Amino acid sequence: MKAPPSLWEDVFATVRLNQPDLVRGWFQDLELVDLDAGVLTIRTRNGAQQRYLEKHGREAFREAAQATTGRLISVSFQNGGSDDEEEAVAFGLPGDDTSLPLNNQYTFENFITGPCNRLAHAAALAIADEPGRTYNPFFVHGQVGLGKTHLLQAICHAIRDKEPKARLLYLSCETFINHVMECVEQREWNRFRYRYRYVDVLVIDDIQFLAERERSQEEFFHTFNTLHQSRRQIILSADCSPKEIPSLEERLVSRFNSGLVALMDRPCLETRVAILRRKAKLAVIEVPEDVIHFVASHVDANIRDLEGALLRLDALSQTVSGGITMELAREAFNQREVQPITIPMIVEEVARYYDVRLRDVLGKKRNKSLTRPRHICMFLARELTAQSLEEIGMYFSGRDHSTVLHAARSIKESKEKDGDLNRQLDDLTERVKNVAQTPR
Ligand code: ADP
Ligand code: MG
Repeated sequence: MKAPPSLWEDVFATVRLNQPDLVRGWFQDLELVDLDAGVLTIRTRNGAQQRYLEKHGREAFREAAQATTGRLISVSFQNGGSDDEEEAVAFGLPGDDTSLPLNNQYTFENFITGPCNRLAHAAALAIADEPGRTYNPFFVHGQVGLGKTHLLQAICHAIRDKEPKARLLYLSCETFINHVMECVEQREWNRFRYRYRYVDVLVIDDIQFLAERERSQEEFFHTFNTLHQSRRQIILSADCSPKEIPSLEERLVSRFNSGLVALMDRPCLETRVAILRRKAKLAVIEVPEDVIHFVASHVDANIRDLEGALLRLDALSQTVSGGITMELAREAFNQREVQPITIPMIVEEVARYYDVRLRDVLGKKRNKSLTRPRHICMFLARELTAQSLEEIGMYFSGRDHSTVLHAARSIKESKEKDGDLNRQLDDLTERVKNVAQTPR
């Protein structure tokens, strides 16, 4: 039986009146197919709409149809639309790559490598070449401004260039959390799940923001498993290693650790020089070599600051004739001939403070009276100098970078609990800074 034209309007109006929370914008796309043998058939545009209605709308539509017709009626939802792929696109999903918020300069071509990021870079290239087949998940961590976002985006650019149809989703962890919160409020999980589980490559930047977010961790866990099981590539970044993310569930920590975890360290001088050259070229700023070296040796460990210094010089050079010169650079750095803090300055102060021999601090002996000051040196070198883990290790009889990382971490942890140690570290920091400020 063909349904009378007004029936749908009446049914719809009744649903809207009785269950306003149920109604979604796309209800206007629904069509009434027919009313036959007591079954009212409603056609949806896609599977997600159909599933939503089956789950939440059956009762409301049935009641509305019965109230309107005065007869016993059951309701059937028919998916008259696309398969899942089209559905995903309809949600503004991967495939529609214009939605990727990528910076065009964050490519592999513009990424300078050095000892600080070699492993992460090599892994990133391998992943871009064969997503889902090499390191999965790929977890990059390092302090702020060391190129994590740049590297993640470089992978996205490379995959997109090679495989324009790949379904890529790149987003910040905050965006992910916001989506989870929206879905909690609106109870609309189908859409969420399609958004995240229907991708070839999922890239989430700054995943440490999942800390303390239980619901988001839960959702992420399921997303992770679904993608991982179907060999989709997962790429994550954070400002610390998985186990250092506060209150991150153990099951997530172990999943993050199950692929490749790569540390991005501070760049050494040579790498800083290379990065500055590249950034100057990209920004079309003419900078003499001596100024490049001057800036690279004065600006601290962070690459973002390095770029900032370059832009500041450029801005300053617009106000004078003669472009960027050493003189201008000195002026930009406030003419402060503050020496950068070096490892020898630190070791000397620490040895004096704890009354141990400098040679022993640097050497291989492992008595407790020496290992503590040595670890303190490594911690302070991390905090106060621009040296990479590798460079610091070299200074202490060629120890490797993980020894330095471990030592610095253990001091950092003890410091939280040990007030005395905390005071000693403050004292030492002040002493070392004084040494750096005293003219040579
Ligand atoms: P993070 O995400 O680790 O905080 P970003 O990726 O935002 O750091 O990097 C900060 C800036 O430093 C960006 O402009 C980036 O292009 C630049 N940068 C970082 N590492 C490199 C590198 N190895 N080569 C070239 N530029 C880099
Ligand atoms: Mg970043």
